[in-house]
Amino acid sequence: MNDKKTRNQYYSGKFEKQLQKYPGLQSKMTPIPDTGEKTYQGNDKLLHKKALVTGGDSGIGRAAAIAYAREGADIAISYHPDEEQDAQEVKTIVEKAGRSCILLPGDLREEGFAKKMVKRAVEALGGLDILVLNAGIQQYQFDIQNLTSKQLRDTFEVNVFSVVYAIQEALQYLDEGDSIILTSSIQGVKPSAHLVDYAMTKSCLISLTKSLAAQLGSKGIRINAVAPGPIWTALQISGGQPQDSIPEFGQKQPLKRAGQPAELASVYVLLASDEASYITGQVYGVTGGAPIN
Ligand code: NAD
Ligand code: MG
Repeated sequence: MNDKKTRNQYYSGKFEKQLQKYPGLQSKMTPIPDTGEKTYQGNDKLLHKKALVTGGDSGIGRAAAIAYAREGADIAISYHPDEEQDAQEVKTIVEKAGRSCILLPGDLREEGFAKKMVKRAVEALGGLDILVLNAGIQQYQFDIQNLTSKQLRDTFEVNVFSVVYAIQEALQYLDEGDSIILTSSIQGVKPSAHLVDYAMTKSCLISLTKSLAAQLGSKGIRINAVAPGPIWTALQISGGQPQDSIPEFGQKQPLKRAGQPAELASVYVLLASDEASYITGQVYGVTGGAPIN
């Protein structure tokens, strides 16, 4: 049974090359990433909680948003304005679960949007208990000499600065028992040669998780990070990897395949739930077997 789930329940083959313009739409991918629409079953683990998930339109954020809604939470998702189509799909799925879904389009590279996004989520949801800062940009670049200042700034704006601004705004509303979850990466501990700027930002998130766990512990607010390995999402086919790496994407992991976003949902649920009452300052690897420490 276990073996079936580990090796065969999810797509384990090679991928077709496919290139989309950043940030990409998962509805246009082949195969479409599995974000748990057909499989995730809730059990009231987050009943009546209110969650904001950045990048909740697609990929890992979408898998978390769908799981949270089915666990009983109301949801706000932020996303890039070009991703309206994916976001509308999530809204339909969340509403089918009997929960509300607030849509917050905006570009996290713009100074000010992160704070506005949190404020709007709090107003629309009537509070905030779970903050998942998951949005991310990854654009590969083999030679550091070709890393433009614009790319360097964009990567840090989205992956690090917006996270800090969102937390600053959210702390006015978070209380004892509430949870912040950051999506870091295995790149934060094992950086690849072609992901210099991206990998740096994911290390920043691990550092931030540890310093803020220490700072927020006395308030009873928990913060943890998830470090995914290779997961089949729009980020990878919209500049995240060179096209030549797409067919073999994930095949070098011990489990010999890429992961699907749905396979991360239960970790995001655990870290958000009251069951994680003594878990803070940690980094959870979901990598298909590659060690993260
Ligand atoms: P994804 O493309 O489905 O999700 C990333 C989301 O980030 C986008 O949907 C978009 O809404 C948001 N985003 C990107 N740029 C933005 C901008 N300028 N303004 C507003 N929103 C913006 O891909 P994903 O892989 O699910 O990514 C989610 C997180 O997981 C990212 O932080 C990524 O770095 C991280 N991650 C992914 C992998 C992987 O292999 N896919 C591995 C490790 C970490
Ligand atoms: Mg998207």
